[in-house]
Amino acid sequence: MAKCGGTSRVMSTETTDDSPRGLDRLIAGYRRFRANGWASNRQRWADLREGQQPDVMIIACSDSRVDPAQIFDVDPGEVFVVRNVAAMVPPFETSPGHHGVSAALEFAVQILKVKEVVVMGHGMCGGCKAALSRELAGTKPGEGGFIADWIAMLDEAREEVVHDHGCEGAAAERAMELAGVKVSLANLRTFPCVRQKERSGELKLTGAFFAISDGLLHVLDEATGHFAPL
Ligand SMILES: [Zn+2]
Repeated sequence: MAKCGGTSRVMSTETTDDSPRGLDRLIAGYRRFRANGWASNRQRWADLREGQQPDVMIIACSDSRVDPAQIFDVDPGEVFVVRNVAAMVPPFETSPGHHGVSAALEFAVQILKVKEVVVMGHGMCGGCKAALSRELAGTKPGEGGFIADWIAMLDEAREEVVHDHGCEGAAAERAMELAGVKVSLANLRTFPCVRQKERSGELKLTGAFFAISDGLLHVLDEATGHFAPL
């Protein structure tokens, strides 16, 4: 088995975008949106001005390649989205601190009353890779420590992945990515409101995985533990 704790680079800043770059590129996109997306959907935006009523909450990774609105081709107002490193849901905790995901979950489930929560992991996830390699373990906050602490939520699942696949390589990374979805689903069920609403049939939880390499969405069958492409 390979030695765990590698030095591979987990976060890439490389881009293949043509110029203009950065904010200029975004502003050019904004102008297209104003000319096309906004103008052609004026009624939609007028309706949304009254409020939002999305049926689905999606928890996804912050990775720039896996935008849920793009993957699911939805309009504004259709999905309530939280994105973070590795699409993680922390467990229900009442410890001091700022619980951003918990706040968003609470808002979606209790206020918006979404009917479904989808956790969507993805291929080539740098957060999951770092969880696997532990290359950021022991770093200070601001120097990798926030990431290390966040993805330590995957430590228990990691043990099984490392046992079965080692701590590096494509098979181990994919196993870690899929395991991460299951960890987030399990953590979702530590929230009393989620548990209660799932039991009563008011809320459905789904695990999914988007494979960047082939663009296929896989859905978890929780009875078998397997992800299958749609
Ligand atoms: Zn990711």
